[in-house]
Amino acid sequence: MRKKIVAGNWKMNLNQEEGHKLTSEIVHMFEDENLKDVILVLNPPFVHLQGVKKLIGETKGIFLGAQNCSDKASGAFTGEISASMLASFGSTYVIIGHSERREYFKETNALLTAKTKQALENGLIPIFCCGEPLEIREAGTQDAYVTAQLSESLFGLSPEEFGKIVIAYEPIWAIGTGKTASSDQAQDMHAAIRKHLGSHFGEELAQQTPILYGGSCNPGNAPDIFSKNDVDGGLIGGASLKSRDFVDIAKSF
Ligand code: PEP
Repeated sequence: MRKKIVAGNWKMNLNQEEGHKLTSEIVHMFEDENLKDVILVLNPPFVHLQGVKKLIGETKGIFLGAQNCSDKASGAFTGEISASMLASFGSTYVIIGHSERREYFKETNALLTAKTKQALENGLIPIFCCGEPLEIREAGTQDAYVTAQLSESLFGLSPEEFGKIVIAYEPIWAIGTGKTASSDQAQDMHAAIRKHLGSHFGEELAQQTPILYGGSCNPGNAPDIFSKNDVDGGLIGGASLKSRDFVDIAKSF
């Protein structure tokens, strides 16, 4: 059975008080409403990591993640945060290759390989993002585009390394736009991704890999999307900033 995961990407939102309030609400709802079999991952901005970790405490099933890490281990890289620092502050997961990082910070597939390796070497679980822009979807070449992102960044990993990774499929045209992929579009792409992973790493490993959907997920559309065979949860942006919505999404399996 693959893990069911709902990960919240806070992006560059919330001050300290707001972040603490959101985390406390999520922790209480998660405990009171007895959510079973689903893993929640909170991915706040770096400055929140320590505070959020403290509030998560010993809650089983809620994990801390970061939104990015450096491709370097340490050194004179002002403003960067290493994977080993994230691990030492209690992160379990790290998002790698979000489309906003790829677009605004020009992160390439090769750079993302280095970041993924740093994460794995430091015991973090990468949530590796992929997804096509609108013009690729309109041209109907989305499968080739997304599978190339995965092979270029991840196919140099050993099966042992790859076995730790979570994939997030996030069509760029659906992120923050209110326009979700239909559940069939999500399923088709997730199945294509799984097949592609299987062609390189073998069917067994591909079947074990969690593949999350991201892009304007909310409590209204999550049950339909999460009902699909190859969808193992979600990477949630906007709706992860509202405790009730985030927890309701996690109850949508
Ligand atoms: C995201 O940024 O990963 C995301 C899915 O955002 P939203 O849910 O707001 O579309």
